[in-house]
Amino acid sequence: MLTVKDKTFVPFIDKATLESRIASLAVRIDEDYRDKEPLIVVVLNGAFMFAAELMKNLTVPCRITFIRVGSYAQTQSTGVVRQILGLHESLEGEDVILVEDIVDTGLTIRQVRQQIESQHPASVRIATLLFKPEALQTEVNLDYVGFEIENRFVLGFGLDYDGFGRNTKEILVLQ
Ligand code: 5GP
Repeated sequence: MLTVKDKTFVPFIDKATLESRIASLAVRIDEDYRDKEPLIVVVLNGAFMFAAELMKNLTVPCRITFIRVGSYAQTQSTGVVRQILGLHESLEGEDVILVEDIVDTGLTIRQVRQQIESQHPASVRIATLLFKPEALQTEVNLDYVGFEIENRFVLGFGLDYDGFGRNTKEILVLQ
């Protein structure tokens, strides 16, 4: 059990299960990118731990870079625009693997993907540690999914509650 601010979280996915699942995703990525040199693009902050664990297990030659997604209110269409911040290198011709912590409504990753694709990479695939199918509000194509989970609030292994709780080796769920 872990208390973060006013909320209590209980164990959900333990360290060994996380590590073995991420290692098996890395095996698939190694196979899929056998003759390539993928560029891992990590969506901060939540995905940093997943990305580190994934990267440790990859053997294909690869590079890593980090982006943030800034949101600001907009009056039309989707209501919110999530703009990519911090991407300084050119993505043209790159085989990009976008790394996310969790896909919930899917709106963030959809917009990130669109902005990445506008830079003409050779390919874009998405790796997410967690996916909540029940919460999905838009079509997203997820290539590597660690765990499909029910629509509950989770924390730990990089994921936060109000900035705290990222520093655990396991994933916990709101009680
Ligand atoms: P989406 O645009 O898919 O709804 O939102 C994805 C983002 O919402 C994630 O990158 C994460 O920051 C946040 N998020 C969604 N569900 C959870 C959750 O259960 N726990 C935590 N800590 N963050 C979540």
